[in-house]
Amino acid sequence: MTTQNPVFLPGPTNIPDRLRRAMNTQTIDHRSPEFAEHFKHVLEQLKPIFGTDQGQPFIFPATGTGGWEIAITNTLSPGDKVLAGSYGAFSDKWIALCRQHGLNVEVVDRAWGEAVPADEFARILQDDTRQDIKAVLVTHNETATGVASDVSAVHQALEQADHPALLMVDGVSSIASMPFRMDDWGVDVAVTGSQKGLMPPPGLAVLAMSQRALQAYDQATCHRAYFDIRDMQQANEAGSMPYTVPTNLVYGLEESLQMLQEEGLQQVFARHATLAEGVRRAVWAWGLTLCAQGRQNYSDTVTAIEIPEGFDAGKLVAHARERYKVQFGGGLGNIAGKAFRIGHLGDVTAAMILTGLATIEMAMVDLDYPIQLGSGVAAAQEYYRQNIKG
Ligand SMILES: *Cc1c(COP(=O)(O)O)cnc(C)c1O
Repeated sequence: MTTQNPVFLPGPTNIPDRLRRAMNTQTIDHRSPEFAEHFKHVLEQLKPIFGTDQGQPFIFPATGTGGWEIAITNTLSPGDKVLAGSYGAFSDKWIALCRQHGLNVEVVDRAWGEAVPADEFARILQDDTRQDIKAVLVTHNETATGVASDVSAVHQALEQADHPALLMVDGVSSIASMPFRMDDWGVDVAVTGSQKGLMPPPGLAVLAMSQRALQAYDQATCHRAYFDIRDMQQANEAGSMPYTVPTNLVYGLEESLQMLQEEGLQQVFARHATLAEGVRRAVWAWGLTLCAQGRQNYSDTVTAIEIPEGFDAGKLVAHARERYKVQFGGGLGNIAGKAFRIGHLGDVTAAMILTGLATIEMAMVDLDYPIQLGSGVAAAQEYYRQNIKG
């Protein structure tokens, strides 16, 4: 008997049984021709996930945070100027990591709940006639607030200013769940991790780099050792890594890519969009508000929900976990205690989402939130009934 409920975390996400089985193998020599074939196949199959023909995918033993470090240390030098927006916990953490590597980050602050400040970036890039800015950072999907940003708007800002800065995008909670078009959006480095839309357990940083980013390596003097892409490129040509490969995670990723391909990427994106809208309908039926400002910025993978004054979101999440054994995301950083998050990405269906909504409703009513039991579930059911076609 299994008593494991699905998690509604915005990562790590639920692992499909099929994927778990694919990882359950006896030891394999990571230098064997047999493994090399799998690994090369996985690297190739990652291209459509990033929306790139021209870019080169990379897999490192790490998590998304390691991916940020790989992105900047292989392309930039200490003292380089970088332009970034601060609009949530993840965009802030990437900025902090850049500073630890000695980069000079120009930060544009926005309220949490807002998206990347593309307009302000456009103005700053226009004014940067000496082209001091070497890279622009975008957190595509701010997991703390449930805000999706328009990466192509930042690309346009760069084009209009005729600016050569590299465009680096954190797509950790969007890639493989929401449309991501690396080549069309002029993205130079795209970063994700294994444990979100891709669905394997945590442990891999997954990236793609444009030819321009790969060329920037030659001038980049940031410290790097384990995360050197040139060493990785050479080992990848032989179907391996410069060190022991986390082979079982690679098998998991291979299965995940196969599953995504079978469902069809467009269908995967449509599924996430439909499920997300049902969650939002539930939130509105409860009479609660989203952290995300503006319909065009709503994330399809995570919804951050503001709770009524006088309640503690941390207690709500703990109550759902302790009494009902269901895990939701808490509020992060500035909105800790004031918001909770429902992750709806990866291996999720409408039926699973409805159990999550029903559970958090029970938890809210248990704690005397002014909401009507069943109201959010009914709103989501109505939406799914009308929008899920067999
Ligand atoms: C999860 C996440 C990360 C990376 O976190 P790790 O814990 O290092 O995997 C980075 N950015 C965003 C937007 C995320 O959601």
